[in-house]
Amino acid sequence: VSSRDFHPHDTIIKTNHSIIGGNNFVFMAGPDSIESAEHVLEMGRQVKAAGATILRGGAFKPRTSPYSFQGNGEVGLKAHRAAADVLGMDMITEILDTRDVDLVDSYTDIFQVGTRNMQNFALLKALGQKRKPVVLKRGMSATIDDLLNAAEYIAAGGNHQIMLMERGIRTYDNKYTRNTIDVSAIPVLQSLTHYPVIADASHAAGVAKFVTPLALAATAAGSQGLMTEIHDDPAHAFVDGAQALTPDAFAKLANKVRQIHDIV
Ligand code: PEP
Repeated sequence: VSSRDFHPHDTIIKTNHSIIGGNNFVFMAGPDSIESAEHVLEMGRQVKAAGATILRGGAFKPRTSPYSFQGNGEVGLKAHRAAADVLGMDMITEILDTRDVDLVDSYTDIFQVGTRNMQNFALLKALGQKRKPVVLKRGMSATIDDLLNAAEYIAAGGNHQIMLMERGIRTYDNKYTRNTIDVSAIPVLQSLTHYPVIADASHAAGVAKFVTPLALAATAAGSQGLMTEIHDDPAHAFVDGAQALTPDAFAKLANKVRQIHDIV
């Protein structure tokens, strides 16, 4: 059901504050993790002013080391929900564990499945039972077909509100960037499937100074949106400060992206 052969028209996903897919362009932005209620509200205010309609932030964090900050859990979900409501934005947050699906469902507007869980089939099946949009991030070593099959696990349960996200893959040289953004995946996915395709240049770059050029490249390739991490004090961010844009840099990025989107 994910194939264009069965569904030639673009899937359009409507949330309370966003229209995703087709010729629409959506900005999802916010901190990597929910640090405090005040912080997520202020970051949300700034990204909304720059044009974002979806406020991102992790309450359950998939950290490479078990000793790193793991997120604020339900306290973070509550703060995130409150900020999104005050600002009139949609909330997107990552779901790591099937046991948390109902908890996260009770707060979020959009589920995010991270790169490390792209083939967590139990989680994908559980989300297939929901009737709420899911952003499915490409596994860092996943092929295009792996990603499409993972999406099919969600769709097979009857949930067709799926967005695919290119967030960079592991290649033979990830010394200067954290991952390699696969720009070609964007038009290829769009030719094979009707789901919106969105890019995350933050996790692809891993370094703030490369986020804007990669975001512009993804937009030029036809991405239907961007996920971007921002922080007002990147050096003290709880998670992934190195790749966070300041709100000001994000506003500049958004202006450039809009110009490129207008011509593609
Ligand atoms: C994130 O967006 O917070 C995240 C952890 O991304 P990824 O799954 O792409 O590493």
